[in-house]
Amino acid sequence: MIILLEPDSGPDVVKTVETVARQHKGITVKTQVIAGERHTVTEIYLLGPTREVSEDAFTHLPGVASVVRVARKYRMIGRHDDEDETSVGFDVDGVKFDGSTFHLFAGLCAVDNREHVDQTMAAVRQQGLVTTRMGAYKPRTSPYDFQGRGKDCLSYVFELAGKHGIKIIAMEITSPAQIDEIQAALDAAGNPTTVMLQIGTRNAQNFELLKAAGQQKNLPVLFKRGMGITLEESLNAVEYIASEGNPRIVFCLRGVKTHLGDPHRNLVDFGHVPVVRRLTRLPVCVDPSHSVGRPDRTPDGIPDIFHVLGQGIVAGASMGLVDLHPKPEVALCDGPQALTLPQLPWLQQHCGIMREAYEKALTLAQEKGS
Ligand code: PEP
Ligand code: MN
Repeated sequence: MIILLEPDSGPDVVKTVETVARQHKGITVKTQVIAGERHTVTEIYLLGPTREVSEDAFTHLPGVASVVRVARKYRMIGRHDDEDETSVGFDVDGVKFDGSTFHLFAGLCAVDNREHVDQTMAAVRQQGLVTTRMGAYKPRTSPYDFQGRGKDCLSYVFELAGKHGIKIIAMEITSPAQIDEIQAALDAAGNPTTVMLQIGTRNAQNFELLKAAGQQKNLPVLFKRGMGITLEESLNAVEYIASEGNPRIVFCLRGVKTHLGDPHRNLVDFGHVPVVRRLTRLPVCVDPSHSVGRPDRTPDGIPDIFHVLGQGIVAGASMGLVDLHPKPEVALCDGPQALTLPQLPWLQQHCGIMREAYEKALTLAQEKGS
């Protein structure tokens, strides 16, 4: 059961509702405060045997906007009843992840050296973008492959982000201790930027990592769907993050493994963008680089990576995660799928066209009604 309070409800209102909730036997109470640009929304979750709890116990309390009985299993991330788009998303330093716009996170799959970080961030910023990706901790399939520069590169990555005005860096973590390393490095650098903690496909069911990402509330999380598990299992994994207290999560589609001799590195699953948007309140990201995994183009001259990213955007994705490298031929990880810096303005224009198509389709749908 979720008790939704009126926007900007004060601590007295929250306390009264929590007290009434705690009077019910076996019920655990979790309060989530979502601070938007103009309003703060508070939701109080009652977890446990809520069938016995009457809605009337709450509907008449001052400050209670509504009481939602959650039948489905995605209590925190699920889209309940007929919730509309206003329940989607969050804000990170003025960058909104709420479906009203699209953000391109293009950058290094793996940080290799300072010069490449500098060049990549300069190219990103030149396009007016304030978001990028920078992999420091790399979960590689083989132990003999490059494992990432780890915490040693964090100080120059954050310093250069400050220099170029980069506001958010998507950065993968593979163990809970790395969250502290990242936070310590951000603090040491004077917090010139922030990090969106990325949980990769190989850790999609690493429950201790999911819980750790949920227990800290400072950094938002980018969860990448498990490549060999069901969508339902991936959504349950996200519920681990949210139920620990961090609702600022983006759900990323990145392709899935099949044994069908796929022409791409993974089977592109961006047809699931509308599904995730329907089932949850999460903003959706698509990663065309790790799903396609190669630089091939169609005879029309458009790279497959552009095509599938566009497919995600026209389906309403809020974010795209793309590998970009100044010299893909010397990249230490995933060079073949990296776009080059001169391709970035083209990619950005391509995204703009696709977003416009989505907005037109949205207007048309509104005109046509349900
Ligand atoms: C990545 O984004 O660098 C990555 C390893 O992705 P995935 O977890 O989707 O394979
Ligand atoms: Mn990669």
